[in-house]
Amino acid sequence: MELWYTEEHSPYVRFSIKVDRHLYAKQSKYQRIDVMNSYEFGTFLTLDGCMMLTEKDEFIYHDMIVHVPMATNPKIKKVLVIGGGDGGTVRELIRYEGIKHIDLVEIDEMVVEACRLHLMQTACGLDDPRVHIFYEDGLRYIRHIEGEYDLIIVDSTDPFGPGEGLFTKEFYGNCYKALKEDGILVNQHESPYYQMHANSLRKAHEKIVSFFPITKLYSAHIPTYPSGHWLFGFASKKYDPIKDLDAQAWNELGIETQYYNTEVHRGSFAMPNYVKKLLK
Ligand code: SAM
Repeated sequence: MELWYTEEHSPYVRFSIKVDRHLYAKQSKYQRIDVMNSYEFGTFLTLDGCMMLTEKDEFIYHDMIVHVPMATNPKIKKVLVIGGGDGGTVRELIRYEGIKHIDLVEIDEMVVEACRLHLMQTACGLDDPRVHIFYEDGLRYIRHIEGEYDLIIVDSTDPFGPGEGLFTKEFYGNCYKALKEDGILVNQHESPYYQMHANSLRKAHEKIVSFFPITKLYSAHIPTYPSGHWLFGFASKKYDPIKDLDAQAWNELGIETQYYNTEVHRGSFAMPNYVKKLLK
């Protein structure tokens, strides 16, 4: 019998991947966790039936969530990652020698367990001595922190279930407080495409704009996420991701990437007209 993983991308659109083997299926306190092996995308992780990452295209998401802020301010030393239990974001961060300390706050220990068992491609950096893992809700963790981090990366699930609190005004205000005076916040901002007639993108963006002087969206093409067009939010107290990008300095670091480069960096901040309209 043929095995297919199917995800609803809109009430009228389904996306299916032919599966070879189902490797892991558990219900944690927070969510249903599945790891499957596929012919086209290699091994992939889903949480509550939503695609988190696949071996074949995870480099796009992790390159863009890490190298865009790091190239904007290569002096970053202390980083907080909220979510990101698969380890892909940490794997990219530890490639920077200048980063001395990374706190990873993941609500669900079982996600890390599943990835350590079946997705070492992303989990491989989690044992780096600079990485400190806390199994806690990011919303609660950040409430009592002030002026500590150069960079916060919110690598969360979408705004429902355990990830809901990470899209609130309270959370963004606390991120602002937890950052140093030149700190940067980057978050995954979902896909704009299936929200074309809703105002959820504008509402989410407005919450961040109310705290940070510099706020921008940037995008990447990620084949296994709904519509393939994915957005990230960039918010900063001081650095502008375009004006302050020192392409030569980043290129001299010699970090090899499959998707990110400094031209993609600049271009990714250009928004199509339909997205600009959604933000108005
Ligand atoms: N690349 C992914 C995407 O955009 O779909 C995100 C992947 S990562 C696996 C998301 C992680 O966020 C999950 O492991 C989930 O457990 C974690 N998470 C969700 N809500 C959280 C919260 N409130 N605090 C900390 N971690 C949370």
